Amino acid sequence: MGSYKNYEEYDQKVTDSIKVKYSQILDEVGEDVNREGILKTPERAAKAIQYLTSGHCEDPAEILRSAMFAEDYHDMVIVKDIELYSLCEHHILPFFGKAHIAYIPDGQIVGLSKIPRVVDIFSRRLQVQERLTHDILECINSTLKPRGVAVVIEASHMCMMMRGVQKQNSVTTTSGFRGQFEKIETREEFLKLISSNLS
Ligand SMILES: [Zn+2]
Repeated sequence: MGSYKNYEEYDQKVTDSIKVKYSQILDEVGEDVNREGILKTPERAAKAIQYLTSGHCEDPAEILRSAMFAEDYHDMVIVKDIELYSLCEHHILPFFGKAHIAYIPDGQIVGLSKIPRVVDIFSRRLQVQERLTHDILECINSTLKPRGVAVVIEASHMCMMMRGVQKQNSVTTTSGFRGQFEKIETREEFLKLISSNLS
């Protein structure tokens, strides 16, 4: 998981502009924006929102291409329990959980650390869980061109837990399958291998 960018890496003009707006929002919800504890909050929040949406500036396919190797291996490769933190595009509130990803190589494998990077890049955008699942699936499928790819995401949504229906223990599961994973036997083998983590 990456860390916050250094102060210098933020575009100061953008940060200043967002800061003014956050200050207005805090004022309008009844906060005293001059209170010591929140004096720097608009600036911090301005940086946080830029960081949390910074995935737009990175190319996940490029990350995969940077670590692809020819390899004569044709069994399932699974990376499970990948931590995931994203923002729902409807409420700009976090949703978070785990991604489980598998692929069956067709002459090319990819450095395993690159798969969580792809998850990070697509997560650092305003998302819905369904599209996030699909984005990751299609990126791996079109870049690595494997015999099959599978993505399962289980996530909790703060917009459901903190507001609205307040279903605090609900977990949303989404999945997508391409190629050999469209066959029931392959898909079931994958689901069995990750099942200890499925709710
Ligand atoms: Zn939401």
